[in-house]
Amino acid sequence: MIKTDEYYMKEAYKQGKKAYKLGEVPIGCVIVHQGEVIGRGYNRRMKDQNTLSHAELIAIKRASKKLNDWRLDDCTMYVTLEPCQMCAGAIVQGRIKRVVIGCMNPKAGCAGSILNLLDMKEFNHQVEITSGIMEEECGKLMKDFFKELRKKGSNPS
Ligand SMILES: [Zn+2]
Repeated sequence: MIKTDEYYMKEAYKQGKKAYKLGEVPIGCVIVHQGEVIGRGYNRRMKDQNTLSHAELIAIKRASKKLNDWRLDDCTMYVTLEPCQMCAGAIVQGRIKRVVIGCMNPKAGCAGSILNLLDMKEFNHQVEITSGIMEEECGKLMKDFFKELRKKGSNPS
């Protein structure tokens, strides 16, 4: 059975929820290879106190481990929020074929908002982009998180 983008985005969303529960900015990611989820990740920057602990990088690490290959050229990444410059860079470096985005991030996104690192002809690899999958849910997750945070009076970003 061929599963839809929505199906896998739901998996990414579940990862984002895990981050939410930990008090992390709720971003989740899964990487799919031949219909199978081979890497999952959620943002744990605060918990790890590490800027490299973005959802996408964690998922890439796991997917590469699973395939025993740094090259993820037959993979699709599903991520609830448009990737930042660091993660977009890693996506290009990993040769990921396609990225499916929940909601865009006008303030920091590098898959079309500020710039589009995923599709620059000057690089040796370009990534197909699909955006707006479960956009409302993914956006709401972020909005709810920051609303709650403001109530508590702290700011992790
Ligand atoms: Zn990132």
